[in-house]
Amino acid sequence: MRDFRKAQDQHIVNDNEAEQALMCSAHGCPNRWSVDGPSGRCCSAHAWAPTGQWPGITAQQDAAATQRAFLASKKGESGDAPAHRTRPASPAERDAIARALQGGAKARGVQWAKRLLVREGKGERLTLAQREMWRDALMVPRAMSALDARAELVARRSA
Ligand SMILES: [Zn+2]
Repeated sequence: MRDFRKAQDQHIVNDNEAEQALMCSAHGCPNRWSVDGPSGRCCSAHAWAPTGQWPGITAQQDAAATQRAFLASKKGESGDAPAHRTRPASPAERDAIARALQGGAKARGVQWAKRLLVREGKGERLTLAQREMWRDALMVPRAMSALDARAELVARRSA
C-alpha cells in the first residue's frame, strides 16, 4: 500500500514536470510560453517586459487565469455549450489533451485548482478567493489544509 501510494505521488510529479515544459519561464506564471525570446520561453505578457516587472505581471496573469478557469468550470457545471475555438489545437496542445484524457484531475478540467493546491502546500500565501476556489473545484471542504487535500486526492485516485 505504501509503495503504491508512492507510485501515485510520482505519477503526479511526472504530470507536473511534463506540463512545466510547456509553461512560461517566469516563476509562477500560469500561461503557456508562446515567445522564445532573450529571457527564455515566455508568454506574450512576460516576453516584452523587463524582468524587474515580472513579479507584478505574474500576479496579474495568475489572477486572470484563476478567474477564467473558475468561470469556465462554473459554466461547465450549468451545462452551457463550450465557447467556440478560434483556432485548431497545436501539436503541443493535442499532446496535452491526450495526456489529460488519461489523467484524473486534468480530465475534469481542474488542473488549475491542483496547481493552486501545490502552491499553497509549499507555503505560498494565496488570496482567500483562490483558497476557496481550488477547494470548491476539487470538492474538498474549505477548512481542509492543502496537505490533507492532497492526501485526499491521492486516495481518491487510487480508489
Ligand atoms: Zn508569463
